[in-house]
Amino acid sequence: MTRLLIFLLCIPFIMQGQATIKCTTSEINKKYFEAHPEAKKEREWLNKQSRLAEFNKTAASTSITIPIVFHVNDPTNPQKVTLAQVQSAVDILNEDFNGLNPEFNNLRVEFQSIASNLEINFCLAAIDPDGNATNGITYHYNSYNGREPNGSGGAVKGVSVWPCDKYLNVWIVNEVETDGSIYNSGWAFYPSTSLADQGLDGIVYNHRYLGYGEGSSDVSGPTSWQAKMARVLTHEVGHYLNLMHTFENYCTSPGDEVSDTPPVYHHGSNNCQQNWTLCSGVTIVNDENYMDYTDCPSMFTEGQKTRALTALNSSVGYRNNLWSSANLIATGCQQVTAIVEENNANRKLLKIVDVLGREAEPQKNTPLFYLYEDGTVEKKIILE
Ligand SMILES: [Zn+2]
Repeated sequence: MTRLLIFLLCIPFIMQGQATIKCTTSEINKKYFEAHPEAKKEREWLNKQSRLAEFNKTAASTSITIPIVFHVNDPTNPQKVTLAQVQSAVDILNEDFNGLNPEFNNLRVEFQSIASNLEINFCLAAIDPDGNATNGITYHYNSYNGREPNGSGGAVKGVSVWPCDKYLNVWIVNEVETDGSIYNSGWAFYPSTSLADQGLDGIVYNHRYLGYGEGSSDVSGPTSWQAKMARVLTHEVGHYLNLMHTFENYCTSPGDEVSDTPPVYHHGSNNCQQNWTLCSGVTIVNDENYMDYTDCPSMFTEGQKTRALTALNSSVGYRNNLWSSANLIATGCQQVTAIVEENNANRKLLKIVDVLGREAEPQKNTPLFYLYEDGTVEKKIILE
């Protein structure tokens, strides 16, 4: 009886430990940008652009596709993370960034008018940096955690990284932080050209919270709380697109630098009703925002969309190159027309690129991609 009682007493604490999202993005980025004045200047410029875009409502809305690669690390069995698991993770991203998650149509009334469809798609890379076919996953045997050796995760990132101007790199690890905990979710760097140049730009993520299904771990499954934890990747991609936590700076201006997300007194760890303590002037907290820590993540706001699109339209961290036609061809993420229609011959040709997305001159017997001003792309081989 005593033993049973002790066990029962322990359950809430165990559950509490498991269900808490811990994302150190805020701290690690603060540290990096403070230590690198040039990177900080670039970041401040991007923040200013974002504020202007939100004020003027000028961010262009266009359908964007981002190529993504997963580097899976484990000392003995990296293949425990299966293609099906990774694909389900990408499917979740595509739901959440397009307002297709089931909760999106059942938001509290206060947030229905500002809930946003970001119209961003994610594509598992089909062509690797050498031009070879890939399923978008690489496997590696090592026991690096996601932060060693000096906080930026250079060890695990150094094992395998694809050019950060062409792919969103996600490093899957067993331990995200150096504290030995298996429950930390992940972290990401905000856009930065110097981080991309160093091969450090991207997301570090806990395999236990990746997607659904067999292989995701013994604590995963669509019916458990893990189904919600699987959506933490959406939160990390939000950071990659320059979104901060909605509780950034707590009640102090400028908060998360997005005007339509209410300031938050404290992060909503495992809680969807944060109304017991409110910042002054706030009557309701956007608990359902992906950029909080709650267990009801369901939406981004219009302001967050503007901020993310501003990042994606800027060259900071090469974000605007990720979704260029040339890059989507090079990474195998763009469907191309194979048949040339002569009646379209008057279209203005923008440029010609090879299968690696490099600009090329017309040449015979080589497959090349012709990019036109109207957005269409043709794959052509001119035979001798
Ligand atoms: Zn975070």
